[in-house]
Amino acid sequence: MSTEDRRKALASLGVELPPQSFGSLPQNVAERMVENVITIMELPFGIATNFRVNGTDRLVPMAIEETSVVAAASHAAKLTREGFLGAGMKAKSDEPLMIGQIQIVGVKNFNDAEKRINQHKKELIELANSKDPKLASLGGGAKDIEIREVSGIRGRMLVVHVIVNVLDAMGANAVNSMAEHISGKLEDLSGGKARLKIITNLADRRVVRAEMEVSADELAKDTGLDSKEVIEGLLDAYAFAEADPYRATTHNKGIMNGIDAVVIATGNDFRAVEAGAHSYAARSGKYKPLTHYEATSKGIKGTIELPLAVGSIGGITAVHPKAKFSLKLMGVKSAKELAETIACVGLAQNFAAMLALSTEGIQRGHMSLHARNIAMQSGAPDALVEKIAKKMVEERNINQKRAEELIKELS
Ligand code: NAD
Repeated sequence: MSTEDRRKALASLGVELPPQSFGSLPQNVAERMVENVITIMELPFGIATNFRVNGTDRLVPMAIEETSVVAAASHAAKLTREGFLGAGMKAKSDEPLMIGQIQIVGVKNFNDAEKRINQHKKELIELANSKDPKLASLGGGAKDIEIREVSGIRGRMLVVHVIVNVLDAMGANAVNSMAEHISGKLEDLSGGKARLKIITNLADRRVVRAEMEVSADELAKDTGLDSKEVIEGLLDAYAFAEADPYRATTHNKGIMNGIDAVVIATGNDFRAVEAGAHSYAARSGKYKPLTHYEATSKGIKGTIELPLAVGSIGGITAVHPKAKFSLKLMGVKSAKELAETIACVGLAQNFAAMLALSTEGIQRGHMSLHARNIAMQSGAPDALVEKIAKKMVEERNINQKRAEELIKELS
């Protein structure tokens, strides 16, 4: 069916789409991106301010439906601006190395197979690079081949890793093509059968680290509380996440509030980033927070460490008009700068959440937007939404029943 026919079919089932179903993403582009398209899904797109990363000011695009995330990120970023002698937040990233996996089953002699693969490493790397001459010509491409033995429920298997420098791309297409391309040769060399050939999202060679420091003075000014007590509260909050996976999961969810919002706004693959982040958080065998905090002579220092497979090129970054806009807005020139900024956003988001949770609680900041949502959900006409929300916040009684009463009273 064409998109129009699909929409007509839906209408005949009584499910009418809202008007203006394609915004700045042209219909023909959306139709090329995925299958069975009928419309697009919109999210609010806001800008987080105050970020200074490695001495450079950056506006941060965030596509997200959740209340308070943009404000919280901007708030924490402000507290970090004067850190590290005015450099703001500091971030550093590994080379953009991604790993393609080729699973080989039915190998009779593992030692011989490994020996032969190692002897032909150079040839395998050249073969992989012949699949993406553009990447290789720019200095990227396959760099190494590694071999692992993995035991599973169907016995031992050989797992070959092709390590690829993907430069400014996220890298999945590039790596998957290479993995498929060398699998035949790997079958010849190992005497086994190549089954899966696919990138791993545990991008643990492409880790980004960021740090921030907030002075005790800044914290006292911001919270109006005793800075010592604020820092104690933050350290207790961190200790909780460090010790308890139930807390660590929510702690990391807060980090991903910030990270996903930028990843989505820049047209990157948020499932890839999510999968990598959580897998990295569990790398010790126990699920841990992705951030770390410690008291310093000045105040408190926070760090974050996680894999970030994001591209400033490839995927839909150049196809989706708003992804293009986001990259321009941030002023990032490479995947490295993009990933480093995203890590800082994750850290700032986490710091803001911890600060709110360990002082006034999270609900206060949420309240006015939450009240507006409840007013709208309860059917308040546009002209009354603000008024009803304000009243519910004043009364500290934000719920649908109260909203409905107020609609009746004020209409
Ligand atoms: P891509 O294939 O669109 O673009 C990358 C290509 O651009 C490179 O291979 C290279 O030939 C070229 N290029 C030109 N200049 C470059 C530069 N400076 N740096 C790097 N490459 C340059 O994109 P991709 O990043 O290989 O693939 C990303 C897409 O793959 C995403 O949309 C993702 O959703 C999808 N995907 C993900 C998975 C997964 O995560 N498991 C699996 C399959 C597909």
